[in-house]
Amino acid sequence: MRTEADVCVDGRVVHVSSLDRVLWPAAGVTKAELLDYYVRVAHALLPHVAGRPVTLHRFPEGIGGPHFFQTRTPPHPPWVRTATLSFPRTGKTFDAPVLDDLPALVWAANLSTLEVHPFLGRVEALDRPTAVAFDLDPGPPAGMRDAAQVALAVHALLEDAGLVGFAKTSGSKGMHVFVPLNGDVTYEATKGFARSVAARLTAVSGGAVTDRMSRALRPGRVFVDWSQNDPGKSTVAVYSLRGTAFPSASTPVTWPEVESVARGQLPELRFGPDDVLERLERLGDLFAPVLSLRQELPPA
Ligand code: ATP
Ligand code: MN
Repeated sequence: MRTEADVCVDGRVVHVSSLDRVLWPAAGVTKAELLDYYVRVAHALLPHVAGRPVTLHRFPEGIGGPHFFQTRTPPHPPWVRTATLSFPRTGKTFDAPVLDDLPALVWAANLSTLEVHPFLGRVEALDRPTAVAFDLDPGPPAGMRDAAQVALAVHALLEDAGLVGFAKTSGSKGMHVFVPLNGDVTYEATKGFARSVAARLTAVSGGAVTDRMSRALRPGRVFVDWSQNDPGKSTVAVYSLRGTAFPSASTPVTWPEVESVARGQLPELRFGPDDVLERLERLGDLFAPVLSLRQELPPA
């Protein structure tokens, strides 16, 4: 097999290399297979990352080796778009990549980017998040079942507020719930809303939930991380793979699936590349409404 090539992707020449490098040793999954997954999932993934800056989580030697989050765009072909991010608090300004199309996605994957993490704002309005994100982190011995129970509690609170939320696995330990807004809202408003939901859940959970960052509080609890709703933070994209022992993707799930996990009728929700592609064929993109549904947060 050739391990290096210039391939034509939608009219762009993309250089791909080290195609035989094993990125997931336990699963024997190579960089060629990583590229294949991202090409096949691109039709569903790209709408969720296009037009937004992203952080690349790169694993140059595979999951056993060093890995790093990279928001500053590495050397790139001229057709990879970038967006300038400025953070007044730290005084930092730099250009982040924007993966608008398949050539850009293949370019990123070739850098052993196993994980793609978009920001919640779009390039033309970086200070306007298009959704609220709840990051549900189970602290062992709490696990996905506990995270699913908390996701249902978030869902119920959202319903009370007249809002629809969408759940996905993180592809790692926990779950994420996204509330589409697609309006003109600020991070101040989304973070405030997420924080108040987290506080209410903590208050009624009898110790099963915490809304505090403190690691000491986490064992046996689910941390409802509201602080992801920040202009400086990104969250793993739906359909992105994870640098876990076996390749596993952040995957949208239905509320009945979340309920089955919460009740212990389904074990874990864990989906590999083939599972995700099969689900997309069968169910379509369960996260599509996150891009289009316009909702308004209740008054604070
Ligand atoms: P898990 O289910 O294991 O919690 P996760 O993706 O939700 O998986 P978290 O540690 O909860 O991981 O972090 C939430 C998000 O914050 C991640 O998806 C990632 O986008 C971002 N993040 C976490 N750690 C870093 C980091 N060191 N640098 C940049 N972004 C990070
Ligand atoms: Mn998390």
